[in-house]
Amino acid sequence: MSVNLATPAVALAIGAHPDDVEFGCGATLAKWSAAGAVVHHLICTDGSKGSWDASADTAALVVTRQGEQRAAATALGATGRCVFLDWPDGELDSGLRQRWEIAYWIRKLQPTVVLGHDPWRRYRLHPDHRHAGLLTVEGVVAARDPHFFPEQELAHHRPASLLLFEADEPDHVEDVSGYAEAKISALHAHTSQLLSTMHIDPTATVHEVERQRAAFDDRIRQRLAEHGAREGVGEGEAFKLIADL
Ligand SMILES: [Zn+2]
Repeated sequence: MSVNLATPAVALAIGAHPDDVEFGCGATLAKWSAAGAVVHHLICTDGSKGSWDASADTAALVVTRQGEQRAAATALGATGRCVFLDWPDGELDSGLRQRWEIAYWIRKLQPTVVLGHDPWRRYRLHPDHRHAGLLTVEGVVAARDPHFFPEQELAHHRPASLLLFEADEPDHVEDVSGYAEAKISALHAHTSQLLSTMHIDPTATVHEVERQRAAFDDRIRQRLAEHGAREGVGEGEAFKLIADL
């Protein structure tokens, strides 16, 4: 188990949906942003299925969720871009067209560290998370080698490290002590997801909303404490680290 990479000059976090990056590595991104890193978000799908309301206006939901993602990035202190690839939610594939786009953005943004879903996490059900993870790994390979996609007319780029969150076999921890609140604030910025992913019902009474919100915040702090305990740090986010790129 290793602890703490050097603060990267540029980090690129790749998620399937708006909010995945905040759940997976939000505190790490907040820590690095505070230390001067440029942090970019890249979101693969349009998030259009992120509602339990069967009558929801999904086109409006896409716009809402992009705004929420930008607000969440701001809550983390991220100063980079939020890139939206807008593949249909729930239908993400890890084919050549999608890989082309990921490689393009890695070459364009030149991250020192790339972060993404672990595509090999066992018993993972959501196909978008698996495909987004595969795209992250395969995009890194395509971006680093000059003969992939030469029509992009961008210099090839080899990141120094790849960190996979939700890792099946974590072997690295980032000490994020002091950044739990930034992560929690960023998660709260995904207001349209309060009910479906945070189990906070915004239509409940004020008192009940506060109770549900506190319970969610406690679950996040508890997770950070569990990950931190792996390496004896107060609060941590655990990853699979691939440093041989
Ligand atoms: Zn997701």
